[in-house]
Amino acid sequence: MSSQLRFQVVGEAFKKHPVEVKTPAERPSEFFAKYVFNRAKMKSFLPPEVYDKMVDVIDNGATLDLATADVVAASMKRWAMHLGATHITHWFQPLTEGTAEKHDGFVEHDGKGGMIEEFTGKQLVQQEPDASSFPSGGIRSTFEARGYSAWDPSSPVFVMGDTLMIPTVFIAYTGEALDFKAPLKKALHAVNKAATDVCHYFYPDVKKVVSNLGWEQEYFLVDEGLYAARPDLLMTGRTLMGHDSAKNQQMDDHYFGSIPERVAAFMKDLEIQALSLGIPCKTRHNEVAPNQFELAPIFEETNLAVDHNMLLMSLMKKVARKHGFRVLLHEKPFAGVNGSGKHNNWSLSTDTGVLLHAPGKTPVDNLRFITFIVETLMAVWRHNGLLKASIVSATNAHRLGANEAPPAIISSFLGKQLTEALEHLEQDSPIEEALGDKHALSLGIPQIPELLIDNTDRNRTSPFAFTGNRFEFRAVGSEANCASAMIALNAAVAEALIDFKQRVDERIAKGEETMKAVLAVVREDIKACKPIHFEGNGYSDEWKEEAARRGLDVEASVPLVIDRYLDKDSVEMFAKTNVFTRSELKARNEIKWETYTKKIQIEARIFGDLCMNHIIPVATRYQSVLLENVHRMREVFPADTSSQLSENNLSLIKEIAEHTNFITARTSDLIEARRVANRLHDEREKAIAYHDTVAPLIEQIRYHVDKLELIVDDELWPLPKYREILFIR
Ligand code: ADP
Ligand code: MG
Repeated sequence: MSSQLRFQVVGEAFKKHPVEVKTPAERPSEFFAKYVFNRAKMKSFLPPEVYDKMVDVIDNGATLDLATADVVAASMKRWAMHLGATHITHWFQPLTEGTAEKHDGFVEHDGKGGMIEEFTGKQLVQQEPDASSFPSGGIRSTFEARGYSAWDPSSPVFVMGDTLMIPTVFIAYTGEALDFKAPLKKALHAVNKAATDVCHYFYPDVKKVVSNLGWEQEYFLVDEGLYAARPDLLMTGRTLMGHDSAKNQQMDDHYFGSIPERVAAFMKDLEIQALSLGIPCKTRHNEVAPNQFELAPIFEETNLAVDHNMLLMSLMKKVARKHGFRVLLHEKPFAGVNGSGKHNNWSLSTDTGVLLHAPGKTPVDNLRFITFIVETLMAVWRHNGLLKASIVSATNAHRLGANEAPPAIISSFLGKQLTEALEHLEQDSPIEEALGDKHALSLGIPQIPELLIDNTDRNRTSPFAFTGNRFEFRAVGSEANCASAMIALNAAVAEALIDFKQRVDERIAKGEETMKAVLAVVREDIKACKPIHFEGNGYSDEWKEEAARRGLDVEASVPLVIDRYLDKDSVEMFAKTNVFTRSELKARNEIKWETYTKKIQIEARIFGDLCMNHIIPVATRYQSVLLENVHRMREVFPADTSSQLSENNLSLIKEIAEHTNFITARTSDLIEARRVANRLHDEREKAIAYHDTVAPLIEQIRYHVDKLELIVDDELWPLPKYREILFIR
């Protein structure tokens, strides 16, 4: 692709865009959730007694009987049809990427040769999509080849285009989960139960504890035309080759800079549509890398937040195309500039208030705050390897540990004030003294200033940082389903709280006063979880050594990190919290290894093709041009001067030869490495082989391709370059 052609592609895009996006006549507060059958819609569309039943189902997990479901379905149909819906689909999150749907029309025979629109309670509540082509890690072959999807009433149905979308779990007939939502709901249930029990030490009236999630979605936008000219982007979501642009992010001029007009139009369109679907979008800004942006909504209950993130990711892809863009959700689409993450801001709150919110006014509030902080740290400490396993992937691996994102070691940053508060509490001598007299409990917790909420005390290198009223799990990848991290985190916290309560209750049973018992156990745990607490620079090499000494998991190979799911501690934790059985964990690991292999396999294939079909021929052609030039020079100029005149070209010719020789030789090594790995039958072994032998070859060869890009005539270079892709005009 010559630069002339690239110029045309961008020019075309520019002429067509920005697409005009009309501001809706209503204010956001008025069109928010327009396409969502939320409580307000239920209230106006359902008979009062059915509405009350539904609230009971949603809030308290009451069972839904078929008669009620029939009424609900009929009302949903009425509401959806008035928005133009003609179809319904069960919408679920299989263990592949993204979401899956199977559409059915509302139509049914009316028995008189005609058709009527019909939607029954049974269709709403349960369906049997053909499960056989979704990954199951062997669960279905062992049991039965059928799966079913079942409505999750806690996530409201919505209309998208002409379809009524019904959020569902996806389960095998034998009960094993084949998706992300089913185990997520179990983990949320477990943390609700465990945290409510612990809350009762402090506040006997608390009825439930909710887990909250506020994600921050980072992404890249690229011009559609340029994207189409990059087979690697098209097939793998990232550029497998491409030299750094002379200017990329070194000027820091993109971050929080003004948003280009075309991008602003895209963002506006996306926000209007997302808000209409009930996603509470709040923040948008440029990110560090050129063409990189972020969108963050207001946090929500975790299950809903996860659904909204999945919905947003698919919406982004659609809206981007309308604006002549492609959205890249890959964690590392471009070497040399920052990758994309998805910070997961996580907290717990009760029906009466926030649990991780900085200290309350009373000592009891203070102790409650410290308890939940410390037990979260206990969970992260005990399961640091597992938490890492919950966020690793072939794509996120390019980002973690690359000095731009959290390192591949999980630790927690608490900030100065909280660190001091914990130290004080830990050292404070006799508990009796700390507690003071019964009514004026000082608990030895110094007044923790409100300042804690301030964001000044930040550590960007920490994968799990406390930020005032929440923890920010920063290692999650931009492309990931947040559910994976949220399942592990919430289940681990549930286990820590169950364990905490057990030890406190033992002390109480021996006659110890409740607050004293709580404080004593908190003190034990402050000491125990110390290894997870790290305030320093997570990017440094010293930290890697120090972390290993502390017994934290420092493994960086994705296939090996995945092993953590099958550690004894993990299996026990998931069993205790009723989230996964061992056979589910095993099956899911098979899928993770298989997915890892497939990703690298596809990259290796595309990369090999590009090398042999695009790069080598072009480099050779340019080499011939140079050779021709040398010949001509020798013809025209006498022998004595010719050597000097063609010296430059000769060294270029040699340089090209060196690079092309390396590329050709190593590309056949790459093919051979794949062949060897493919012969392995065990999914884990195969993934390890792909990690150890195939993936590194791609990086080695790439270096030489990128060097050629600097030498070969720009007119001949077949792929759009970074400097063209990365700067939207
Ligand atoms: P930053 O980029 O500074 O980390 P953002 O404002 O981009 O912060 O995003 C912060 C995210 O954290 C938002 O989604 C916000 O709603 C969410 N958040 C704020 N408070 C809480 C909380 N208590 N629990 C969970 N998420 C929260
Ligand atoms: Mg953040």
